[in-house]
Amino acid sequence: MCIFCKIINKEIPSHLFYEDERVVAFLDIKPVNPGHALVVPKTHYESLEDISDEDLMAVARAVKKVGQLIKDKLDVVGYNASVNNGSVAGQEVPHLHVHLIPRHAGDGHTPWSRGAYASGEAEEIIKKLIS
Ligand code: 5GP
Ligand code: ZN
Repeated sequence: MCIFCKIINKEIPSHLFYEDERVVAFLDIKPVNPGHALVVPKTHYESLEDISDEDLMAVARAVKKVGQLIKDKLDVVGYNASVNNGSVAGQEVPHLHVHLIPRHAGDGHTPWSRGAYASGEAEEIIKKLIS
């Protein structure tokens, strides 16, 4: 059983602060910023490709609620909501989860380096995506 299933089953402790029929949210053990939360479906799915539409909708609703909680209760004006989908994307725990990371002006957590398309490259990608 994966570590998040053990947390959901209360077999190992966590700082859990939100629960509904399909979803839980608890604090990440190694926060980017204090209040960094993980929104997790109770059913074990490894990735966004696997999750049922019903559970995905429940996760989306919980993300909205928990994000609002973080803003209202922790004096946070914005947050990043992100999924590391697959090990190449940085996923370490193989149970789908959404990170909600409180952000503060000047906290230095710039998320991405950005590039540029070479001539014709975007058009090639579009061709593949719509074919
Ligand atoms: P991933 O890299 O898979 O997107 O993120 C996994 C997250 O789970 C990491 O941010 C990590 O700190 C957190 N994590 C790993 N093990 C535990 C644990 O036992 N308890 C809690 N609360 N968080 C964990
Ligand atoms: Zn699991």
